[in-house]
Amino acid sequence: MKITFHGAARTTTGSMHLLEIEGKKVLLDCGLYQGRRKEAFERNRNLPFDARKIDACVLSHAHIDHSGNLPSLVRSGFSGPIYATGATGALCEIMLMDSAYLQVKDVEYVNKKRRRQNKNPFEPLYDAEDAGDALKLFSPVPYESPLEVVDGLKVTFHDAGHILGACSVELEFQTGNMSRRMLFTGDMGRKNMPILRDPVIVRGAEYLITESTYGDRLHPVEDDVKEKLENLSKKIQRRGSRLVIPAFSVGRTQQLLYFFHELYREGRLGDIPVYVDSPLSTKATRVYENHRECYDRDMLLHLIDDNNPFALKHVTYVTQTDQSKALNDMSGPVIIISASGMCEGGRILHHLKNTVEDENNIVLIVGYQAEHTLGRRLVHKESPVKIFGEQYELRAEVENIQALSAHADRDEMLEYFGEMGPEVDCAFVVHGDPDQQEPFANALRSLGAKKVVIPDQGQSFEL
Ligand SMILES: [Zn+2]
Repeated sequence: MKITFHGAARTTTGSMHLLEIEGKKVLLDCGLYQGRRKEAFERNRNLPFDARKIDACVLSHAHIDHSGNLPSLVRSGFSGPIYATGATGALCEIMLMDSAYLQVKDVEYVNKKRRRQNKNPFEPLYDAEDAGDALKLFSPVPYESPLEVVDGLKVTFHDAGHILGACSVELEFQTGNMSRRMLFTGDMGRKNMPILRDPVIVRGAEYLITESTYGDRLHPVEDDVKEKLENLSKKIQRRGSRLVIPAFSVGRTQQLLYFFHELYREGRLGDIPVYVDSPLSTKATRVYENHRECYDRDMLLHLIDDNNPFALKHVTYVTQTDQSKALNDMSGPVIIISASGMCEGGRILHHLKNTVEDENNIVLIVGYQAEHTLGRRLVHKESPVKIFGEQYELRAEVENIQALSAHADRDEMLEYFGEMGPEVDCAFVVHGDPDQQEPFANALRSLGAKKVVIPDQGQSFEL
């Protein structure tokens, strides 16, 4: 077996690894490379292999940095099956279409400029038709059901506890007459998070491909998320004001709804209405609702009691633009959950514009905010902040909950690998920034991994 790392090599984006075994080629993930526009476009468009010669694709989960270049793959001639859990396929239906919409919008913006300069317009990386063609190739595979994806390569999906449908992929193959196993973590999730089952520990693999996003970082000691949400809600109730929460559409929004549901059930939230104002978040919540096979015990117990956390009477899902605008004039107390999670676009911008100048309001940040985003400026309480090109004084309170990360931190990952056993002959460390990867590689060595490699982009290894 030969493996080539075509993405997420010394970076956290564009997860894509090519396996070659007995003349067959299988792609592990096909993520969108996200970065500077021109470089990203070139990399995503010019795949480093002949897409027509790929026999199958195995997908760890629906996040765009793992699935988002599938439409390009199909546009370039790939026509094999895409193996993923049913929930991942369902999330990809909404996320690939959303990504196609963004690709088309983005190129429209660039072309407007190019036309003024009398230059030829660009084509989008892909459009809705390409995304639709990719979706037709999805073939659902249940968790814990071994499947031979090509001759000589068997895969089994295990719970990763990261987002709905996410899995780590166990691969079994022969080298010479030896049977070998490799674990591809995808993105490593965490134990004891709401809704989803904990990650499954896969013991005794000889090879490991592991992510390392938090390879040298720890999550802060866990806040009591429910208590914090309760306290903030009570504050806005007293003040008759707004609590605005920018949240990722997939995962974070559903976690928040879960906690709000428990607070209402326990009589800790009065009658404050909650609005989920994002078409993508609403669609993603429907997918979470439909895929009960991914739920943990607590979530199932809620359902047995007929308490669907996503169908609470206090929660309204806003899809139409005029409904969304009507929220601007609504008197408090009101809780608004909206996207995008880093405040870089979407309806959250209207709500922030309408919220930040009043000291009675609260903006609650619940996820990682990348550098140079409006979300990061809010976390740092920079004032004034620019929204839609205009300056607004930041007078609202800004609060932060950091306990909801979907990625395992260093200690959580090392605990997991400690339990996997000492048999790992070779670990490949991917999907991390260099300052996270080096210390993490050292930590794996001290756990007993015989060889640890941080592959370069395009580097191949014979297993
Ligand atoms: Zn992910």
